[in-house]
Amino acid sequence: MKRVLVTGAGGFIGHHLTNRLKAEGHFVRGIDIKEPEYEPSRADEFEILDLREFANTVKAAEGMEDVYNLAADMGGIGYISANHASITRNNMLINAHMVEAARAAGVKRYLYTSSACVYPSFLQDSDDVSGLKEEDAIPADPEKGYGWEKLFAEQIVNYYREDYGLDVRIVRFHNIYGPLGAYDGGKEKAPAAIMRKVAAAEDGSRIEVWGDGQQTRSFCYIDDCVEGLRRLMESGFQQPINLGTDELVTVDGLVDIVCDAARKSLVKDHDLTKPQGVRGRNSDNRLLSDILGWQPTTTLREGIGATYPWIRDQIS
Ligand code: NAD
Repeated sequence: MKRVLVTGAGGFIGHHLTNRLKAEGHFVRGIDIKEPEYEPSRADEFEILDLREFANTVKAAEGMEDVYNLAADMGGIGYISANHASITRNNMLINAHMVEAARAAGVKRYLYTSSACVYPSFLQDSDDVSGLKEEDAIPADPEKGYGWEKLFAEQIVNYYREDYGLDVRIVRFHNIYGPLGAYDGGKEKAPAAIMRKVAAAEDGSRIEVWGDGQQTRSFCYIDDCVEGLRRLMESGFQQPINLGTDELVTVDGLVDIVCDAARKSLVKDHDLTKPQGVRGRNSDNRLLSDILGWQPTTTLREGIGATYPWIRDQIS
């Protein structure tokens, strides 16, 4: 049994990770600026603290052995494209303070959650992309705001490893989705937004799809994400590593899979005025499989099949 801090424990991935750590028998302290929205936290201690304040990060890290730093101001492409300044400032403060507080508290292992948004846009300007390898991140041209901050926060964590010997992990998530994630309110990401729209639509009617629908992504189911996080923490690997699937799909293809899960036939209205992010993005999972001897196993169809009923029930 370890004493584990999960920041962002009121959020989507942090809440699922807390459940997993509790099921393994660990002592969990969860920190967030809000409670989990859809069910109570199982953390042994759950505190509302704003981690942009250094004193709060010190309080959070005190007495902890492992830290999973998941707290972040984040959302889907609409949200991150419209809030460059505030997202950068909020996340920079959280990440700079949290890693220093962890070092000062003598934590044993520190995991930082980065993103596929660190990868350069010049490698993602075609829908027929090859997978992004970890070393592709530099020379840098990441997503404005959110992606630049993630890339720089990775560097800070790396400097703490070099200068202070902090035992770090740096994971780059590729589009995580699943039950108990935001599905409305502006912070939801594409799979949840599409499932909400499909659930709300009458069979045979029309739904709005952002962009021309030919932009590509890969999506990773939450159970695989949590499994990967636990495996990575237990590994000794200290460099950035992708955590996602390499099952590339167009956004229209994703809509079709959701429609199949819903047993609905809908017409897509493409809105070209809406932000759509990079043209194509996929994960190269070679390092992940080499280091962890594992990679995500849930297909998109299986994951959507497990998530859609939850979103449909929420909105009804
Ligand atoms: P989320 O928004 O559900 O969770 C983040 C949590 O951080 C939220 O509950 C939020 O309230 C909390 N938070 C924000 N500001 C805070 C502050 N000042 N102090 C304390 N808590 C604060 O997002 P998520 O999907 O669970 O993401 C977790 C981590 O993974 C984040 O770092 C995110 O950037 C990263 N990530 C997620 C994805 C994805 O597809 N979900 C992809 C790439 C990276």
